[in-house]
Amino acid sequence: MLPQFLPNTIPNWIGGAQVEAQSGEVFQKVSPHSGVQLYRVASSGISDIQRAVQIATHAQPDWAGMTPVRRGELLLNLAQVMRDYRDDIAAVVALETGMSFCAAQAETAVAIAQGEFMAGEGRRLYGRTATSATPHKYASLVRQPVGVAGLIIAANTPIANIAWKVFPALICGNAAVVKAAEDAPATAWLFGRLARQAGLAPGVLNIVQGLGEQAGAPLVAHPDVGVVSFTGSTEVGRVIATVAAQRLAKVSLELGGKNPLIVCDDADLEKAVDWSLLAAFSNAGQRCAAASRIIVFDAVYGQFRDQLVERTRKLRLGPEDGDDLGPVINERQLNHMLSAVEDARKKGAAILTGGTRLGGAAHGKGFYMAPTIIEQVAPRDAISLQELFGPITCLYRVKNFDQALCMANDSPYGLTASIHTRNIDRAMEFTRRIQAGVAVVNGGTHGSEPHMPFGGTKMSGNGTREPGREALEVYSDLKAVYINVSAEIH
Ligand code: NAD
Repeated sequence: MLPQFLPNTIPNWIGGAQVEAQSGEVFQKVSPHSGVQLYRVASSGISDIQRAVQIATHAQPDWAGMTPVRRGELLLNLAQVMRDYRDDIAAVVALETGMSFCAAQAETAVAIAQGEFMAGEGRRLYGRTATSATPHKYASLVRQPVGVAGLIIAANTPIANIAWKVFPALICGNAAVVKAAEDAPATAWLFGRLARQAGLAPGVLNIVQGLGEQAGAPLVAHPDVGVVSFTGSTEVGRVIATVAAQRLAKVSLELGGKNPLIVCDDADLEKAVDWSLLAAFSNAGQRCAAASRIIVFDAVYGQFRDQLVERTRKLRLGPEDGDDLGPVINERQLNHMLSAVEDARKKGAAILTGGTRLGGAAHGKGFYMAPTIIEQVAPRDAISLQELFGPITCLYRVKNFDQALCMANDSPYGLTASIHTRNIDRAMEFTRRIQAGVAVVNGGTHGSEPHMPFGGTKMSGNGTREPGREALEVYSDLKAVYINVSAEIH
């Protein structure tokens, strides 16, 4: 059911006010579960972005003029307001994404924790002091805001993605313009409303609804946006990096993954199966950290595969709390996955389970993909290289640890990776040699905790890390300060 507080058309938040797109254009947001229209959404364009950036630029100096401690207090207040309205946030996240309310509550809790952690950074916005070769000269390094931050996000975990960027951008003294994900517009709108309620000054946080090329691209190209932080596909990330490079803007890219999970011959197989199910299929596989390549030692391959397939067939799909996974976010994404699986099948892949769209009264109108396990694919086949961002995983058979590690690293991506083993030497060697931003032993391939940096190597990013304290590097510039004092004291 549609929460009553949602407007029929989801507007922008610019300068603390709710505004339609200047063109008056709208697009439709449909439910991934039922396919019916939920609401219309302001389809913003270049003039809306220009207005939002202008207002953010105007609001930023006063925000930056507050002490970081005061900014932290206001952001803590926002985190508290989010806590007060956490069930409303979760209801909107569930409605827009099709995930269960319970999963949306867990995601909301992570977003609140992110806010609380970053608010505390207001008391720790450290620079450093340094020595000087010159007598009576004091050298230090202080953090400065960049100015206006342009934040562009994906819809997969919408409230966490917003919190992940907005809180560090604001604590550093920037004003922000968020380009909401077109598949999760109301989550961003509600966040804007709660920020207003928490007392953020108008213009410090602006939220613009719209499609990527119409609303996202002008934000990236805008000369007054000093830092662009993007969470989304590698394909779009590459375009953003190219455009931002023209004006040498700072860019942080959190991109895709094709994450390996290795199961060794000495693994606790039951736990490895549990973790594989979660890592491959939770949130319908729409996680940059999803385990989409499961690499299994020969000695346990058959046993592991049979258990995994059996458990996968029992997974329940739907939007309710008892369900294991929901639909994927839109029909275009679903069709893209179906055709990728079909291409793999034509090239000789074996689809062990899934591979189809779910029909029937419970699922037929939604965008449900049956959880899919594929084998007999080569590491350089398209399906092994391409991120599908859905409930699809491939199995690979290897002889030993070296072959497993080599296959895990043989990928254009390097976001997260995991190994299941009881051997400490193997585990340590894996964490040392795996080419990934996150290495996990005896767990799933997963994202970050609020105080830990996340990000990838190779095509998974451009080397920045968010969140954790490392996010402060993205959203602040360093200024070296030298003070010469007189040695003569009067
Ligand atoms: P996407 O790249 O299609 O879109 C992401 C955002 O970019 C959307 O808001 C979209 O409107 C905007 N956009 C699209 N074209 C644009 C352009 N030309 N200029 C500016 N903005 C533009 O990604 P998606 O399909 O929505 O999300 C899935 C992707 O996000 C996957 O690749 C996934 O791995 C990635 N992701 C990465 C992380 C991470 O932290 N590394 C986290 C979540 C999702």
